Amino acid sequence: MGSHFVYDFADGNKDQKDLLGGKGANLAEMTNIGLPVPPGFIISTDACRAWMESGREPAGLADEVTEHLTRLERTMGKQLGQADNPLLVAVRSGAKFSMPGMMETVLNVGLNDESVQGLADSADDDRFAWDSYRRLLSMFGATVLGVESSVFGEALDDHKHRLGVKDDTDLTADDLRDLVATYKGLIREHTGRDFPQEPREQLDLSIAAVFDSWNTDRARLYRRQERIPDDLGTAVNVVSMVFGNRGPGSGTGVAFTRNPATGEQGAYGDYLENAQGEDVVAGIRNTLSLAELERIDKTSFDSLLAIMEKLENHYRDMCDIEFTIEGGKLWMLQTRVGKRTPQAAFRIARHMVAEGLISPAEALQRVTGQQLAQLMFPRFDECADKDLLATGMGASPGAAVGKIVFDSATAVEWAGRGEDVILVRKETNPDDLHGMVVARGILTSRGGKTSHAAVVARGMGRTCVCGAESLNVDVRARKLSVRDGRTLCEGDVISIDGTTGEVFLGEVPVSDALVVRHFEGELDDDADDLVGAAAEMMTCADDARRLRIRANADTPQDAARARRFGAEGIGLCRTEHMFLGDRRQLVEDLIVADDEAGQRAALDALLPLQRQDFTEILEAMDGFPVTIRLIDPPLHEFLPDLTELSVHVARQEDAGAVDERDRVLLQHVRRLHEVNPMLGLRGVRLGILIPGLFEMQTRAILEAAADRKDAGGDPRPEIMIPLVASVRELEVVRRRIEAVAAEVAEERGEVPHKIGTMIELPRAALLADRIAKSADFFSFGTNDLTQMTWGFSRDDVESSFFSTYLDNGIFDVSPFESLDTLGVGSLVRLGTEKGRATRADLHIGVCGEHGGDPSSIHFFDELGLDYVSCSPFRVPVARLEAGRAAI
Ligand code: ADP
Ligand code: MG
Ligand code: MG
Repeated sequence: MGSHFVYDFADGNKDQKDLLGGKGANLAEMTNIGLPVPPGFIISTDACRAWMESGREPAGLADEVTEHLTRLERTMGKQLGQADNPLLVAVRSGAKFSMPGMMETVLNVGLNDESVQGLADSADDDRFAWDSYRRLLSMFGATVLGVESSVFGEALDDHKHRLGVKDDTDLTADDLRDLVATYKGLIREHTGRDFPQEPREQLDLSIAAVFDSWNTDRARLYRRQERIPDDLGTAVNVVSMVFGNRGPGSGTGVAFTRNPATGEQGAYGDYLENAQGEDVVAGIRNTLSLAELERIDKTSFDSLLAIMEKLENHYRDMCDIEFTIEGGKLWMLQTRVGKRTPQAAFRIARHMVAEGLISPAEALQRVTGQQLAQLMFPRFDECADKDLLATGMGASPGAAVGKIVFDSATAVEWAGRGEDVILVRKETNPDDLHGMVVARGILTSRGGKTSHAAVVARGMGRTCVCGAESLNVDVRARKLSVRDGRTLCEGDVISIDGTTGEVFLGEVPVSDALVVRHFEGELDDDADDLVGAAAEMMTCADDARRLRIRANADTPQDAARARRFGAEGIGLCRTEHMFLGDRRQLVEDLIVADDEAGQRAALDALLPLQRQDFTEILEAMDGFPVTIRLIDPPLHEFLPDLTELSVHVARQEDAGAVDERDRVLLQHVRRLHEVNPMLGLRGVRLGILIPGLFEMQTRAILEAAADRKDAGGDPRPEIMIPLVASVRELEVVRRRIEAVAAEVAEERGEVPHKIGTMIELPRAALLADRIAKSADFFSFGTNDLTQMTWGFSRDDVESSFFSTYLDNGIFDVSPFESLDTLGVGSLVRLGTEKGRATRADLHIGVCGEHGGDPSSIHFFDELGLDYVSCSPFRVPVARLEAGRAAI
């Protein structure tokens, strides 16, 4: 209509959420598809933004409002707040993204001491008119005039109490008239002014108040949490009122076109007779089900169902709605695509495909990897008897049962002998890492969702409850005391629920999630509706995706599981853990050996053990590529702690008898000690400095492959060199590896293999064109690449300043959780382009944690990488997201 700021419902549609807000856009859409929406108009978010920028009402807005109000009055055949048969309006907020309960709505605008009588006469119902007026006074008083809303609530309760009535509906017209007088007095008392009687002034003040509600503290806080930008602004909807509070034949309700909790087909909702606005959700009286509405008012119920069907067909998705029935006539007041639980998302997507409403590709867009991950967490049996000890914060989901241990060393020791343990700490720090790795779950009595324990546990997919403040953790005494006086000791069994934050005494039975049992091959597609839905979405995703999915797996068990979960190879097989345990002694021997013969002996002892490791993994992944990373961490990680050993030797000196091996070992530990091991002697640097080490590993890999071939298998090993910064490092190591390969070929015949490198240092990404000359493949190690690009070490900083950075909006999300596409992502892009400039067919993957993160996967797909690799449990999530990325 040539207007700037104001739009009639007839002029908008559902795709204009930016301009009209979600509520306005959908009111417009419903109007235009012929649904019964009370007439009205929308003041756009442009007006809100203009207002926020200038701090004043934008010029021309008042005139436009007048123009649209006049038209609305003509349509309705009555004028705002006129003395007889008045037009009343609702003034409703509505931003692009729904912000439930954050902003304001004022109903019944236009009522005053005169028009309340006019409304009573026109409806022939005094009670209804005074009920509407008292509602206006409380909403206007709170929203526009800033009186605490509890002031009105308490006055209402006082009245009811004095009159001895229970429900609002028991108040008579006279009671409500008294209440109006009380409310007016309260407004005067709290604001020093009278409730404005002039209808247009009421309207203008309400509009301004709704715009202002965009910037309340709670709205800002909510937006920060939900990552909604602060500069979007809200729209304001001015809608003619319809009345659910006009006696028993009227009412108001909310409904979903399908069950949003389970996904079951069929409408689902609540209805409240003789009620208005938020009464339904406020829980002031017991609501009725839609089935009960059908009994009371079949005609309205039937129209409601017909409308819901029309909405689903139109939006092609589950919708939620707000409606009101006024004297047997149904009105639609709001709709939007409804929020749902993960299981509902999967079921609804499947059902809608079966109903022919959406295509399989669309169904895939209706579910997320995040939702699938939630469906995969184990659960405690709902029916089991439980003894609740405390409730903390559910920081990393899952259900874990185990024996209490209070420190990492004990965790490692007990887990090593096959016990399930829960690591219980006041709070964790990087020293607890090895304990966290082996524990079933982690419980802390301090810290929030961004504490070290929470962040690290989520990263590892380990169940974690943090901040269970009613627990007292006494690490020294090895006791855990509960507020009710009970005390638990090391070794006592507890169960923790990382979703609800609950901590239970003893063992609560756990069941694997149904979808996991399906991925494990224990359940058929048709065992359950949800399983069927997940299976169907996985098939869609596998058909659609371009990216291949591999797993990070260091053991044959993990490799086998990854394969069952759909992995198409191993993208990262770490070899360092293979040097722990009994083999630590051999590594020590290698390091302390003072001649070549000694080194040779140590390496010779390690060789068959390594070969066995690789044979089993290659067997589990037969026919698929297995990328094995040669040893990466600094060697001192395999040696005793410097301080402990120093003390040990000093004691021996005091006693006058020092063990020779301890003395030599101490020299080497001192020699290898690094102030900053992350930037020290590790990765390819080790391979160059310690003669024979990479060669031994190469031989073990190739001999294992030869054994597999002899056994009729199809081994596809890929040897990967970590931490390369210069092509010359790679050349040196590659020559040595090739020499070993030639020897093995001589002895055992040709063994197929590739030699490639990780790209995990900025220099490697910058010079990827040179590095590609000596590499058959690249794998971006995005964990190290993130550390090296940002210049901080994950183990040190996550617990120190990340939560502050998140709070201050410096990070939206930890760069270790989701790839920093701007910075680290640029290096990945550059490395890919440069690598492929040298070798067009260079095979490129990603093996950091980011390989299992949904938004990072979409980024890697866009860059045209060949695969991502993630932990076995993330493999289905990655498959799903790779499919979603491709459509
Ligand atoms: P929210 O965004 O918090 O849901 P709404 O603007 O939808 O706020 O308003 C809250 C409630 O007020 C609605 O659910 C509805 O019951 C009632 N309401 C809104 N507009 C009208 C109207 N024009 N006539 C009658 N009731 C209305
Ligand atoms: Mg609403
Ligand atoms: Mg690395």
